[in-house]
This record gives sequence, structure tokens and C-alpha cells, in this order.
Amino acid sequence: MDASRLRAIEAVRGLAVQCLGMLQALFRGDMRMTKIQMTTPLVEMDGDEMTRIMWQMIKDELICPFVDLKTEYYDLGLAHRDETDDQVTVDSAEATKRLGVAVKCATITPNAARVKEYDLKRMWKSPNGTIRAMLDGTVFRAPIVVRGIDPCVKNWVRPITLARHAYGDVYRDAEMRIPGPGTVELVYTASDGTETRRLVHEFTEPGVVEGMHNLDASIESFARACFDFALATSQDVWFATKDTISKTYDHRFKDIFQEIFDADYAARFEAAGIEYFYTLIDDAVARVMKAEGGFIWACKNYDGDVMSDMVSSAFGSLAMMTSVLASPHGYWEYEAAHGTVQRHYYKHLAGEETSTNSVATIFAWTGALRKRAELDGLADLAAFADALEQATVATIESGKMTGDLARITSIEHPTKLSTGAFIKAVAEDLKGRL
Ligand code: NAP
Ligand code: MG
Repeated sequence: MDASRLRAIEAVRGLAVQCLGMLQALFRGDMRMTKIQMTTPLVEMDGDEMTRIMWQMIKDELICPFVDLKTEYYDLGLAHRDETDDQVTVDSAEATKRLGVAVKCATITPNAARVKEYDLKRMWKSPNGTIRAMLDGTVFRAPIVVRGIDPCVKNWVRPITLARHAYGDVYRDAEMRIPGPGTVELVYTASDGTETRRLVHEFTEPGVVEGMHNLDASIESFARACFDFALATSQDVWFATKDTISKTYDHRFKDIFQEIFDADYAARFEAAGIEYFYTLIDDAVARVMKAEGGFIWACKNYDGDVMSDMVSSAFGSLAMMTSVLASPHGYWEYEAAHGTVQRHYYKHLAGEETSTNSVATIFAWTGALRKRAELDGLADLAAFADALEQATVATIESGKMTGDLARITSIEHPTKLSTGAFIKAVAEDLKGRL
């Protein structure tokens, strides 16, 4: 081969290597570019125990490889709450007011045992209580419906969304033990000094009393949040209290709901073909058991606390329930409906394999990302949130699931996966969708 031919071959080879390098660089650049961009950070509230472990896995496996995640991070883990005298909880709620959307990991509400376990300065209040009080608003909880995880109530063919009023009543009460005979009264002292009194009870023996309150403004925003959510999701609203017994307190809830509905929503409900329906709480419970689902069940604070656990476990598992706090001021906080799964965490610490269900925590992230996408007009971020939810559901429907679901599924021969293996299986499915 002559020298000029060799040079030509060398030149072509050089060009080919150069092209390959450029292609590789382009591809790498492309890979970087395909990470989905965010414009406004989410408020990220980290938490405790097993949910804190899952939190990191979800970020590492399911979000950060695909999204250029922007968050403002607040560590609500109990140790850090104690270090900051719980200021971090207040700061995270303030940040939510500023940025609009938060995603929260489950957190420990300390009791006497936790004060000892974590050597706490004080028995700090429930972070959820603090945050809800600062943001106001209503907690909406809906089951994540998956083929093969069938509700125990056979006629529940559509999800029931529970709307829980998140202010007042027994959660902000004043209580007293009455040691012996005496009189207990309610006393309202108006700002001009005039007093109104109401006898609670003439005690002739020891007992207990409790005083509760609520605010017209909070009840109004609860009503509006429910009616807005109903319009946004095309579902009926059911609301119930015990107004026949509680003729002033519960009746006020009933009246406010009706006034707001008549004034601002009746026409829009009619146009949307949906209904507002009020009944007594015991009648509502009986009807819910016979209904087929597909509506919003608005509950006072305590009713919502209790009924949401009943509805979620009847739909399969506490870990298959989404939860979002919608504030009338336009703030949104997404979380899982369950706690920190303490029992599994101790197994994890002991080096044993756990099979903890991460679905509700994954859906807290997708809910927050989708809301951020909606507020910032980011279509690809919204599509990512949809894809991650679909991947999660499809993984379970393909028979791969954690132990809590494997125990109850109607799918034959399910594969029970560990906490980490389930998240990895979702990641595999997700890659195929993006
Ligand atoms: P939990 O975390 O709700 O767990 C209770 C039990 O339910 C678990 O032991 C487990 O049953 C099952 N379970 C709940 N979530 C699960 C999941 N994701 N995957 C599989 N199984 C799940 O309640 P807890 O353990 O009694 O409470 C722990 C801490 O959570 C408490 O300190 C409490 O203050 C806190 N908490 C926080 C929130 C919140 O931040 N939103 C809400 C409630 C409670 P098995 O053990 O039978 O497997
Ligand atoms: Mg509860």
C-alpha cells in the first residue's frame, strides 16, 4: 500500500474517531438535557424511621435519575426537631407558604416513650398538627386503586375520597379532670367585658370535662375546599355531622356548608351534573357501606381521622392511600397517610430484610411534582409524575409487591419483594416508559 493511500486511510480513521467522540459527547449532553427541568423548588420535609429510609431510596432510584430535582430541604427527623426546638417545623410550613407546594415524609409524634428513646428536651407537638394549623385547609385522602387488590367491601368499585377538616375540635381542646363536687360552666367574656354563661354540669362526684372550639372562617374554607375539589374531580360531596344532638356546634357546620353551597356552588354543581348531599353522620356511615364509591366524603376533624383509616384499610392497606392538604390560600402539602412504620424500622436496624410498602410515599412525590408542574406550566414534569404512578401500579399488577399486599392480593402466586427490591422493580418499569 503506498504512503498516500495509508495517509488517506489514517485520515478517514481519524475522522471516524473524531465523529464517534462527537457522537458520544452529543449523547452525553443529550442524556443531561433529557433530565426533566424544574423552575420552582418543592419544599421537602424529611421524616423518621422506615419512611425516612424509603424517602432516600425513592429519590435515588425513581426521581433523581430522571428529574433535575430542585427542593428546599427541611429535616423534620425527630433528632433535628429537638435540636432546633421544633423551629424547623415552623420554618418548613413558612417555606410552604412562600413556595406553594410541599412533600412530607411521615414523622414521629413524640409520646413519653419517644421522649426517653430520643432523649428529647420536650414532648414536641405533632408536626402535622403544627403544619396544618399554619396552612389551614382540608386533608383529602383517596385510595390508590390497583387490579388484584380488591376492597373488602365488595360494592366499593370506585375510590372514596375522604376530606378531613384539619382545624380545631378535639385536636385543640382544653380538658380538665374534675376531682369532686362542683359546677362547670362555659364562660364567654366579650371584648367589652360582658359575659355569657352556659352550665356544663353540676358535678356531685369526680369526672372529666372538655372544651372545644372552631371558627366560622375555617369551616367556610373547609366547605369551599370540598366543593372546589368536587368540581375539579367531577364527584358528588357527602357531608355529615351530628347536628340533631349538637344543635349549636355541629349545626353551625351544617349551616355554613349549605349557605356557601347555595350562594356560590349550586349552579356550577348542576352544570357539572354533580350533587351536594347532607345527612347525619350515622346515616352517612350506613350509606357509605352500601354505596359503590366515586364521591367525596367530607368529615369533621375527628370523624375524618377515624374514617380515613377505616376506608383505607378496607381498600387494601394504609400504604395504598394518597393524602394531600389543600389550603384555601393555595398551598399544597402531599404526604403518605400512614406513620413511620416503627416495627419495620427496628427490623431494619437489626439487619433483617424488610418488606415495607413505599407506594403512598411515591404518590406523595408524584402528587407534589404534578402540582408543581401545573403551577409552573411544565408538561414534561407532569408526564413524568403520571409515568411514575403508572409504573408503580403496573409493577403491582404484574405480581411484584411488598408483603402487606402479597398477603391480600387476588393475583395468583405474587412475588413478595423487599423494600428496596420493590422500588428497583418500579424503576425498571419506569425506564421503559420514559
Ligand atoms: P404506622 O407507621 O402507620 O404502622 C402501623 C402498622 O401498619 C405497621 O406496623 C405495619 O403493620 C402497617 N403499615 C403501615 N404502613 C405500612 C407500609 N408502608 N408498609 C407496610 N406496612 C405498613 O404506625 P405506628 O408504627 O404505630 O407509628 C409509628 C410512628 O408514626 C408513631 O411515632 C406516630 O407518631 C407516627 N405517625 C406519623 C404520621 C404522619 O406523619 N403522617 C401518621 C401516623 C403515625 P405490620 O407491623 O403488621 O407489618
Ligand atoms: Mg388516624
